[in-house]
Amino acid sequence: MKLKTFPKGGIHPPEKKITAKKPIVDFPLPKRVYIHVQQHIGAPAKILVKPKDKVKVGQLIAEAGGFVSANIHSSVSGTVFKIQNIYDATGYKKQAIVIDVDGDEWEESIDRSPELNADIDNLTKEEIIDKIKQAGIVGLGGATFPSHVKLSIPTGKKCDILIINGVECEPYLTADHRLMLEKTEELLVGVRILMKALEVDRAVIGIEANKPDAIEKLGKAAQKYNGITVEALEVKYPQGGEKQLIKAITGKEVPSGGLPIDVGAVVHNVGTTFAVYEAVQKNKPLFERIVTVTGEQVKAPGNFRVRIGTPIAELIEQAGGLPKSAGKVISGGPMMGKALKNTDVPVGKGTSGVLILPRKMTKRKEVQPCIRCGRCVNVCPQGLEPYLILSLAENKMWDEAEKAHAQDCIMCGSCSFVCPSNRPLADYTTYARSEVMNIMKQRRMAKK
Ligand code: SF4
Ligand code: SF4
Repeated sequence: MKLKTFPKGGIHPPEKKITAKKPIVDFPLPKRVYIHVQQHIGAPAKILVKPKDKVKVGQLIAEAGGFVSANIHSSVSGTVFKIQNIYDATGYKKQAIVIDVDGDEWEESIDRSPELNADIDNLTKEEIIDKIKQAGIVGLGGATFPSHVKLSIPTGKKCDILIINGVECEPYLTADHRLMLEKTEELLVGVRILMKALEVDRAVIGIEANKPDAIEKLGKAAQKYNGITVEALEVKYPQGGEKQLIKAITGKEVPSGGLPIDVGAVVHNVGTTFAVYEAVQKNKPLFERIVTVTGEQVKAPGNFRVRIGTPIAELIEQAGGLPKSAGKVISGGPMMGKALKNTDVPVGKGTSGVLILPRKMTKRKEVQPCIRCGRCVNVCPQGLEPYLILSLAENKMWDEAEKAHAQDCIMCGSCSFVCPSNRPLADYTTYARSEVMNIMKQRRMAKK
């Protein structure tokens, strides 16, 4: 049977899922954590603690700074050392709460028992959304958009389908794959909770066909629930892009500048869905996540449950140390991840992986003139002309870049991956996207 996929473009980078069979392991408690107050899209959270304050695991330490924002909780118990500006994965210094760890004392309200709690009958839609908001849940696939906002459907719109993103199409990363295998039942309860919040009777879990064990396990377990199905998808990058996934599963196209809800869809990642289960059924705020630490030269790669705020340097140390051949440390995967300036950067809610690549793979090759081969156009999943957007961005021709739909770039990196002339296409299309989006925003605000 032909597997579903998105129709335009796409590439097939080597998968390199070397940690796919490594079960999730609890990462040792760090001595000190650095918890940024902005780990999400939207306004930074407002700090509620001061130096010398004692905190417990799961305690609210910074409160959402608006509707599009997220609560921040302590991932450890101990004493607040100081408030400091430190680098995050984007390469900018941002405010963080530094906590010295002492023991591991959790808030009493958190249910730490391993038993499955599948009873969601008494919850109302409003209660679910509020619990998710209180728990500070954001999109854990990397987008970090506050989940309660996605669940608050604007007036006049209706959600027809919930799509759970279990694609994990980025090479190397396996955190979602392991969650689907190890927390299958909890995930399905999470799906049911999200369905209830959205008032939909249909949910599809999309998984790339390179994870047959997860497809089988989730598919079998889902049979006992009405309306939840698992869809195996063709292995093609970026199958996990929100717009690509919606197109593959529903056949509908999110319009330029539009949102999934414009075509009746809401998409949540597998990691987010598990966090929703923990928040709603176990009263557990989001203060830890699964991180894949990987790379061919890494001695002990693996999937770890890590407290937010743990320095990435400690993850690398635990995985056998930085290999001598290391050329780049990336937060995330090789296609969409961010190269880190230093490894003191802490794990945030959006940190799906830490990838160490050797020097020989990371050397920038000499940029050559465009030979008009058209490969970048052929692979762009958004149907853009990356070579053209690059030249418009070089010349800061933003009106023309908008006409060329630079704002629709999903920053997938496919164009750079195939360019035989090593042109920095993704860097420039991302730059153009951000400039054009800013101009569009200013125009919208001026109209108000
Ligand atoms: S990075 Fe943007 S322009 Fe390049 S292939 Fe992806 S969507 Fe297209
Ligand atoms: S892939 Fe590279 S060389 Fe080919 S058209 Fe695009 S920019 Fe030019």
